[in-house]
Amino acid sequence: MLTSEMVKRFGMDCGADVVGIGDMDRFEGCPKEMDPRYVYPDAKSIIGFIFRIPRGYIRGIEEGTHFYQYPSMGYAGINEVAAPTVLYETGKFLEDHGYEAAVFRNTGGRGSVSDMTGRPGAEESPELHGRSVHYTVGVSPELPPPDVFIHFRIAAFICGLGEIGYSKMLLTPQFGPMNRQAFIFTDAPLEPDPLYDGPELCNQCMACVANCPGKCLSLEKKVRVNIAGRDVEWGKLDEWKCFASYMGMNKASNPFLDRHAFDEHPEGEKLIRGEKEILPEEYSWINQKINACYPTEVSGYNPPKCGGCLRACINSLERRGILTNKFKNRFRKGKPWKMNL
Ligand code: SF4
Ligand code: SF4
Repeated sequence: MLTSEMVKRFGMDCGADVVGIGDMDRFEGCPKEMDPRYVYPDAKSIIGFIFRIPRGYIRGIEEGTHFYQYPSMGYAGINEVAAPTVLYETGKFLEDHGYEAAVFRNTGGRGSVSDMTGRPGAEESPELHGRSVHYTVGVSPELPPPDVFIHFRIAAFICGLGEIGYSKMLLTPQFGPMNRQAFIFTDAPLEPDPLYDGPELCNQCMACVANCPGKCLSLEKKVRVNIAGRDVEWGKLDEWKCFASYMGMNKASNPFLDRHAFDEHPEGEKLIRGEKEILPEEYSWINQKINACYPTEVSGYNPPKCGGCLRACINSLERRGILTNKFKNRFRKGKPWKMNL
């Protein structure tokens, strides 16, 4: 008989750092366009895989001298190579035992873009990520529009793999925010893990808020959801602003940016200081300006410049000694760098 222990062991032998299992009923109450039960109605279990992002992948960003390795290895390498390999092998293992494995990897392409806009099914599309994207419609009235796209951090929480921090990042007890996730939905009736109930990971230190160059995380506004009977809360993130900021719009965190790139925008100065809200229809123009300074193609993935919340959180968690993955030397030795505006 196939057991949870067998599946977890197999996933880890294939290369996942941690594997957790949740019950599909824990998705009860989630919005239709994010509910994986529409992807695989017979699924009984969700298997969550954690892939660590080695700390050294962001060393160059922490020093302010090298920005290429993190997007290419920490995003693309994990999302495109490491995680799909584990999903493929573990999926075959499940199917060899007679259970279907609906894989769910991380990707930049999202059909309904509902996660960014909250407007699934709308007829007209604004420009998104520099491309024209058409909103999708459901194939029948009772179904959500494709692509249904799960909330990865909630899915990982459901698998008992960690907490959602104030920054909205998934924090695991091993690696804090330095992780990526991938999932399999299966009709195998596996014993679920409990929700994470270990030592508190996010202590609301707010270092992520203070170290965001784009001022994208709100101190006051919060998002509150109930997941599998537990109240969960994180800070309200302005996704558009974050996207533009980590791509390099913010002068304080992008050494590649042409200081005059946004001069023709009536509020250009506010833009590069993170003092203006970014509208979805502005993103394409902003993206062109940023891409002219450091093209996405350079790294093969969106090249994040800031890493502000991520690096601040690592520093905070390490100082509290809370993570089980220990290092001989501290991640951060002094004050984080910041470009002169
Ligand atoms: S930086 Fe502090 S407040 Fe932000 S997610 Fe990490 S622990 Fe939580
Ligand atoms: S990724 Fe950068 S811009 Fe986005 S919230 Fe974190 S620090 Fe702010």
